[in-house]
Amino acid sequence: MKSSRIIENSPLARIARLKLHAGSVAMVLGHSIHLSGATREQFLSDPYWVAHEMEHVRQFEQYGYFGFLWRYLVGWARHGYYNIPFEVAAREAGERDAVLYARGQPLPGPEARHPTPKAG
Ligand SMILES: [Zn+2]
Repeated sequence: MKSSRIIENSPLARIARLKLHAGSVAMVLGHSIHLSGATREQFLSDPYWVAHEMEHVRQFEQYGYFGFLWRYLVGWARHGYYNIPFEVAAREAGERDAVLYARGQPLPGPEARHPTPKAG
């Protein structure tokens, strides 16, 4: 994956996980993908999830570190987590780009995919 890196057992991702009442989350900060409740292997085994988070990496590159965070938080306050424009775009990218991260494996079925948090 480009220049991004994965951080397991991230305290920051744990805060997001509690906030979102989710069993596992990935949270992108710049080029780092912070995980809580999921291992690197579990994350990488779901190409839809990887594609979603890689869209956030791209968004960070487009808007800059604080430019992204500011827009993200404003979007959260205005629309709620699920409808943050960056999240809507990342869900679309997840569907569109999953095949790019499938590493030669068949795409997982719905039951094997990481659920998108709806709360927050
Ligand atoms: Zn997201």
